[in-house]
Amino acid sequence: MPAHYPFGLEPLPYSYNALEPYIDAETVSIHHDKHLKTYVDKLNAALEPYPALHGFSLSQLLSKPELIPKTIQTTVKNNGGGVYYHNLYFNSMNTPWDEPTENLPVIRALLNQFGSLDAWKARMKKHGENVFGSGWSLLVLDPNRRFQVVPTPNQDSTLPQGLVPLLPLDVWEHAYYLKYQNRRTDYIDAWFHVINWNAVNNRYVGQMLLT
Ligand code: MN
Repeated sequence: MPAHYPFGLEPLPYSYNALEPYIDAETVSIHHDKHLKTYVDKLNAALEPYPALHGFSLSQLLSKPELIPKTIQTTVKNNGGGVYYHNLYFNSMNTPWDEPTENLPVIRALLNQFGSLDAWKARMKKHGENVFGSGWSLLVLDPNRRFQVVPTPNQDSTLPQGLVPLLPLDVWEHAYYLKYQNRRTDYIDAWFHVINWNAVNNRYVGQMLLT
């Protein structure tokens, strides 16, 4: 999978029904094969006439939006952000997972900063519930290598603020409406059961090892 233009549709790392009963197969299938595919296609179409941008990674394209040509700035922000967050989202879940263990550095660090996993969950949940319309609740690492939990609207990247997403919770209606209808809170409670903590830990350790 190229890390630059033309961006590809990353395959799901599990089967459509792997997240059942928490997230249903039809939602996963439409979310990945249709919604994410559309973001990928629109991002590539926007970048196509700009060969000077073809060597850059998604992180680079999203980190300094002011350097993107004005005519495609919004398209890259929306669809590039969509590709970035969805790849993280789908790669942050797995078949209903064992309880997270303190063997993982990311869990020890979360406990150290938030006091308990429940305290961290409450923040993720509060921001997820409070996003008005479409958006995300995000666990990020800030420039001081501390965690923050922040909301972001639409597909707006936090990279320009130096906040690196470690674990994204999609609260767009397309992420839950088929199974949960208007019950966003029930979807958020279910999502905590399918977090792939090994994947989140790998991301955390990778960031912490960067100088
Ligand atoms: Mn989505």
